[in-house]
Amino acid sequence: MKPVNLRFLRKPIIIFICASVVLAFAQSPQAQNPTYDLVLRNGRIIDGSGSPWCRCDVAIRGDTIVKIAMSISDPAARVIDVEGQVIAPGFIDIHTHAREGIFKVPTAENYVRQGVTTLIEGPDGSSPVPLKPFFDKLEALPRSVNIGSFIGQGSVRAAVIGSANRMPSAEELDKMRALVEQGMKDGAFGLSSGLFYVPGTFTPTDEVIELAKVAGRFGGIYISHMRDEAAGIIGSVKETIAIGERGGLPTQVTHHKIIGPANWGKSVETLRLVDEARARGVDATIDQYPYTASSTSIQAALLPAWAQEGGRAQILNRLKDPATRAKIKAETIRIIKNERGGGDPKNIVIAGCGWDATLAGKNLADVARLRGMEPTIENAAEAGLWIVESGGCSGIFHAINEADLERILKHAATMIGSDGEIPIFGQAHPHPRSYGTFARVLAVYVRERHAITLEDAVRKMSSFPAQRLGVQDRGLLRVGMKADIAVLDPARVRDAATFERPHQYAEGVSTVIVNGQIVFERGMMTAARPGRVLYKRP
Ligand SMILES: [Zn+2]
Repeated sequence: MKPVNLRFLRKPIIIFICASVVLAFAQSPQAQNPTYDLVLRNGRIIDGSGSPWCRCDVAIRGDTIVKIAMSISDPAARVIDVEGQVIAPGFIDIHTHAREGIFKVPTAENYVRQGVTTLIEGPDGSSPVPLKPFFDKLEALPRSVNIGSFIGQGSVRAAVIGSANRMPSAEELDKMRALVEQGMKDGAFGLSSGLFYVPGTFTPTDEVIELAKVAGRFGGIYISHMRDEAAGIIGSVKETIAIGERGGLPTQVTHHKIIGPANWGKSVETLRLVDEARARGVDATIDQYPYTASSTSIQAALLPAWAQEGGRAQILNRLKDPATRAKIKAETIRIIKNERGGGDPKNIVIAGCGWDATLAGKNLADVARLRGMEPTIENAAEAGLWIVESGGCSGIFHAINEADLERILKHAATMIGSDGEIPIFGQAHPHPRSYGTFARVLAVYVRERHAITLEDAVRKMSSFPAQRLGVQDRGLLRVGMKADIAVLDPARVRDAATFERPHQYAEGVSTVIVNGQIVFERGMMTAARPGRVLYKRP
């Protein structure tokens, strides 16, 4: 070969080499398709199993966790250094009343800011019937969080025989079975009941068992707001266990609490009943919110069930008849003295009223005074009846004891559920549980009181509810699981919402990821709406 040719070729070769290098970089699979979409670095991983934390990185591709290791250095489209914060599975709230709020506030910001990534609807015996149109509507709604539902026994009964206090015919029972079956085929996680409420309260145990059997055949669970959480608490826990035992499915006491000072301390016995049931093979569990006040409608809480039969027109007729009104009022007085009122009308606070927004935040003693009466228990009962007649309000009832709360929380078979809703920020006077439940457990019961460990608290909020629901691909930080993740500072996480000022977001959760996409970071919701509708699949 002649040197002149080489000299002639040198320049194009150099250009070619340079171009190749540039091209190689431009087309590098690493540069164009990094190994991971997102890596969380320098975390303390609490994986949801209850195991102690480990110092690890987490890598996500698409909607899935693809690697967990002490150090992940492969290229990623985005890396977040969490600087020693806790990386936990996104929390799963097994008891929410989110089905109205989710359409008004699809970010579910009050929940996301606590680290919650999945909401389960349809508790307390109340759900849409049938479920399919509700699920279809949800599918069409871009949302930040995942959502699933139970099928509600009360709603099923109402659809077939209304709110009458009577037994169903054989044909009606078949219809109810068919509605539960349809609910399960549509993807419900099981059967919920609210045997405290109308019409659940008119349902004999055997009828609930018949419907529970249907849910169980499809792999569902039974979850119950029990018949009586006050004087009849022991019998109610026994009934809940019996429904699971005889219905052949897992059973759960939901928002377990002991209402009324006369009944405080009975959690010792209720937990013993759960332990005994579990020892003989009954899959009985509990969920709970960490507050010493409950919340429901004034009517449901303060009127006896018989007075609520048949719907509003009949309730008003009963209240118009002086003799019947006196009977109802006597019951309301008893309830204020011994149950939801905890012996003082000040313990009953109005949460919201469609017909008079100014009542929100006032207690029943205030309402009695507004009506020109001394704030005695008798007059507070009268004020309660006036509220029902005027259109009803939701209420908050301070009648739970801290010792019972903590005893229940510490039990191994207790998980966390808020019983909350998705409020419109600043509107009405809701129970703070909607804004604070999960953060409050971490702040008050883990950090301040050391009632449970951080790892156990996370288990109660993630893998335990996932296991209970039969959700196979969430609730744990493991390779192959869906990337629902909460990053939080265990020293700073806290609930800010109080009974006085409920509209305050929880603090200390820095980043929330749902199905691999960041829905919350730097103190703000992002534009991502990756939430999915979750269906129970047998
Ligand atoms: Zn309930």
